[in-house]
Amino acid sequence: MSVVTIKSSQQAIELEEKHGAHNYHPLPAVLKKGEGVFMWDVEDKKYYDFLSAYSAVNQGHCHPKIIGAMTKQAETLTLTSRAFHNDVLGKYEKFATEYFGFDKLLPMNTGAEAVETAIKICRKWAYEKKGIHENEAQIIVAENNFHGRTTTVISFSNDEGARKNFGPYTPGFLKVGYDNLEQLEEALKNTPNVAGFLVEPIQGEAGVFVPSEDYLSEARKLCKKYGVLFIADEIQTGIARTGSLLAVCGNCTCQNKCEQQSETYVRPDILILGKALSGGVYPVSAVLADNEIMDVIQPGQHGSTFGGNPVACETAIAALEVVYDENLIQNARELGNYFRAEMNKYIANSKVVKLVRGKGLLNAIVINDIEESSTAWNICVDLKENGLLAKPTHGNIIRFAPPLVITKEQLDECIAIITKTLSKFEDQV
Ligand SMILES: *Cc1c(COP(=O)(O)O)cnc(C)c1O
Repeated sequence: MSVVTIKSSQQAIELEEKHGAHNYHPLPAVLKKGEGVFMWDVEDKKYYDFLSAYSAVNQGHCHPKIIGAMTKQAETLTLTSRAFHNDVLGKYEKFATEYFGFDKLLPMNTGAEAVETAIKICRKWAYEKKGIHENEAQIIVAENNFHGRTTTVISFSNDEGARKNFGPYTPGFLKVGYDNLEQLEEALKNTPNVAGFLVEPIQGEAGVFVPSEDYLSEARKLCKKYGVLFIADEIQTGIARTGSLLAVCGNCTCQNKCEQQSETYVRPDILILGKALSGGVYPVSAVLADNEIMDVIQPGQHGSTFGGNPVACETAIAALEVVYDENLIQNARELGNYFRAEMNKYIANSKVVKLVRGKGLLNAIVINDIEESSTAWNICVDLKENGLLAKPTHGNIIRFAPPLVITKEQLDECIAIITKTLSKFEDQV
């Protein structure tokens, strides 16, 4: 029983294959180091990271300020559980609630846990504040949603792979088309006991689907009209990724913390955050809401051993400070516009790529091939050979989401890698 030394990527892949559960199908890149927008593999090949761990590493790999805050706290006190107080949690909760403009925060660890938390809060609010009969609350969700992997969350997924043979499923969820206000209003009008509407402001995993301009604001209005909670899952879209602090901020670029005075801001009743809340260095998630909603949760009714631990809290404070210290909102917005414009120049004469879509630095290209084809995968393997790491999502879509600290010069180099790689495929379509 000794620990082996990893000498090659191949060896590391074989170990995972043999000893690890096969619940992922990674691109064959074995990474050992990260810094800013770069990662290095076991053979010391350097890559641009164009996934950012699904938008967790918005602040760049191993950001010194975040790592500094985390290691300092790790040397001091790591975990008390919530049986006792710690001297960082309250400081973090004050900072984060002011930062996002809500009364209260409930700390968890992973995204899926935060989604579960939001569902529990929404249901409890429905029974205790709205007066819905116990066990009858319904939550409306969108088709092709991705909210995580727990039993309840996959209960309202329509991804066969995520669901099949994991039943019986949790009842109490109702699906409507994404970006479909008519179906949403129908459901709100005709379904008794609706408690909330849970939605991703942009559907990331589904393939970076950006809804119509007025979708979120109109959905918000419908929720108000029918007295149900508007719950935004910003785990992937939040924290500067889409060129505003949150995707629900719309076109608001306010750089002086979110003052939420912009007309485009669609304020959720419940906000769910994860991923970049820690800059990708530690699992930190959170649910934010105002008192009248959050106060339905009382001692003993929800919790997590690690949620709100001092390391997580210090890490999250630093990660949120970096967003404004380094102008990540502005950078994501400007470079996102530039990236799509440059890609569109290429696409104008391309047979391989149908379109590019996205917001800020959350983008995807759609490959001109059937969903079951391996073209997108093969393009990603070639991108890897050319020094850029990206991953297909849903067959023929490739997501491009670099860390938000990327510079224009670096992005130009990446666009050159991407277009050179795509060119090789033009004759094969
Ligand atoms: C990643 C993600 C989740 C799940 O987060 P985990 O930390 O993987 O549990 C939930 N919702 C959205 C929109 C996500 O992108």
